[in-house]
Amino acid sequence: MNIPFVDLKAQYQSIKQPINEAIQNVLENTAFIGGKHVKSFETNFAQYIDIKHCISCANGTDSIEILLQALEVQPGDEVIVPAISWISTSEAVSAIGAKPVFVDLEPDYFTIDPTKIEEKITGKTKAIIPVHLYGQPADMPAIIAIAEKHNLKVLEDCAQAHGAMIAGKKIGTWGDAASFSFYPGKNLGAYGDAGCMITNNDEVAQTARMIANHGQISKHNHQIEGRNSRLDSLHAAVLNVKLPYVEPWTNLRIQHATVYNQLLQKSALRTPPTRENARHVFHLFVVRTNKRDELKQYLQEKGISTQIHYPTALPFLDCYKHYNHTMADFPVASTYQSEILSLPMYPELTGEMLNYVAEQTLIFLENE
Ligand SMILES: *Cc1c(COP(=O)(O)O)cnc(C)c1O
Repeated sequence: MNIPFVDLKAQYQSIKQPINEAIQNVLENTAFIGGKHVKSFETNFAQYIDIKHCISCANGTDSIEILLQALEVQPGDEVIVPAISWISTSEAVSAIGAKPVFVDLEPDYFTIDPTKIEEKITGKTKAIIPVHLYGQPADMPAIIAIAEKHNLKVLEDCAQAHGAMIAGKKIGTWGDAASFSFYPGKNLGAYGDAGCMITNNDEVAQTARMIANHGQISKHNHQIEGRNSRLDSLHAAVLNVKLPYVEPWTNLRIQHATVYNQLLQKSALRTPPTRENARHVFHLFVVRTNKRDELKQYLQEKGISTQIHYPTALPFLDCYKHYNHTMADFPVASTYQSEILSLPMYPELTGEMLNYVAEQTLIFLENE
């Protein structure tokens, strides 16, 4: 059996007709930038998350960068980020001239450890960016309490967690603002790069919208210098077709995770627990084993594609060498980076496929 890591073709096949019609509609109206599809997607996504403002932009990385500026983080300020994430989280901080300050992860949950945040707060700290990594919500009640105590802004990186919840409240609605990515492989994906910013704060929303559109508050009225970061109408049309499927697709991801967990629970593999009181949306299903590289190789030979998210924790990347971090600074991230493996996870997986992945994994572990 051949099991790809993700299968965007299978997803397209399942919604081919409405997608083709939506794209055709954009072509016939030649409204390529802005227009009704972009407007309606912003309204629909805000409604889905239950938040006041949604401002679309070109990609998820831009959305973090623009929101940091809209939240008035200045060059020279410090911003707290988790030690494991996709590089966008820390890259956006550096891009606006601020300094990313890394904090280790909570064991098992792969999200920033709230008990290790306060020791990293200095007079320059301005904001915290919790990342809901792999679809697991970060401990938002604890993070918000710390932010309030120290008067810090909270920007949630929701790129991997569309529709996730904690304590009955959607992620993205806890902090001052939140960023989303609609990169094709994300739980809600466009057919190219796309992203958005959400907030309940009118002022932050207005500033973010201006920055993303050359600092214009209205046509040719440039209040500030901004940039060009817009959602293309073609992507907005695709996202509008896909949005109603996010809930059923997410429920399938959760069901698949339950099946994996049941099949693998008695093995030496560490499967990902869901935080209490949370809805984990399983963008990725990440297991841990000290035989990671051997397991990856074995599964590849059996036709099963896996990936590693991510092989090097952020503080240890070459681009952050100048911070001189050591493994002892981040014991959890240091261990996890050599143990984590992402198994195939997408709504279109069948029971037969899940069984095959689990079966091959168990065979490998038994023979070790
Ligand atoms: C994908 C991702 C981003 C950035 O999204 P792009 O749209 O690719 O720029 C940011 N943070 C995390 C955690 C991501 O996974």
